[in-house]
Amino acid sequence: MELWFTELQTPAVGITCKTSRTLIEEHTGYQHLAIIETEQFGRMLVLDGMVQTTERDEFVYHEMLVHVALNTHPNPRRVVVIGGGDGGTIREVLKHPSVEEAVLAEIDGRVVEACRQFLPSISGALSDPRVTVKIGDGVQHIREAREEYDVVLIDSTEPVGAAVGLFSPEFYADVRKALRPGGIMVAQTESPFFNQDLIRRTQAGIRASFPVTRLYLASVPTYPSGLWSFTLGSLTHDPLQVDPAAIKDMPTKYYNRDVHFGAFQLPTFVRQLVESADAPASLNGSASAGGA
Ligand code: SAM
Repeated sequence: MELWFTELQTPAVGITCKTSRTLIEEHTGYQHLAIIETEQFGRMLVLDGMVQTTERDEFVYHEMLVHVALNTHPNPRRVVVIGGGDGGTIREVLKHPSVEEAVLAEIDGRVVEACRQFLPSISGALSDPRVTVKIGDGVQHIREAREEYDVVLIDSTEPVGAAVGLFSPEFYADVRKALRPGGIMVAQTESPFFNQDLIRRTQAGIRASFPVTRLYLASVPTYPSGLWSFTLGSLTHDPLQVDPAAIKDMPTKYYNRDVHFGAFQLPTFVRQLVESADAPASLNGSASAGGA
């Protein structure tokens, strides 16, 4: 008998993968959690029926969430990941030798435990001595932080349930306060095909708190539409002004010097989407969010 898993990405579109077994499935109290074995993408973490990460394509998302910001900041020493319980974002953060401490603020301890058990290639770095795992609400963690971090990375689920607050303007204002001078944040901001309202709202929300706000793209096969957006907010440093020679060679499979700059070159419909976000009344001379 063949077994197939389908995520309905919209009411009319889905991704379907042939599966060989279910490694874990439970209700955690926060969400429905499953890790399944798929033929095409290897092991896959699924939360509330939505694909979060897979062994075969996780590198794109995790590298792109991390390295653009950590190569834009001249000396990132303290980094926090909000969400990201699978550990892939932390793994990439630790590739930067300047990082002294990486904090993971994940609301659901079961995600961390299940990924430690069944996704070791993604979660392995969580055991590094530079990592502190805090199980709790990332909204509250950020609200209580004052000038603590050089970089804040928001590796959240879709904006439903506990993750709703991670997409609000109030949260971005708190992220700004949690950053040290020169700090940078990046949030995953979903698909430019399927989540246009969300992209407009997050653009406006991040622009209201950050003088430099820029959206960039990467191709993630298992995410809805396959084209994914990230939005970077920076207090000072502009990712497009980075000296290419200063971008370190790292063991990456997607991110490199050319991709660092090329990811900001937006197709026309995405550029228009970003430009259509409400411009903030404040923040003099803010860098435009539409790429180079
Ligand atoms: N790469 C994924 C994606 O874009 O689909 C995200 C993966 S990561 C597993 C997302 C994590 O965010 C989940 O483990 C979820 O429990 C966590 N999360 C959701 N809301 C949160 C909150 N308010 N504070 C901290 N973590 C949260």
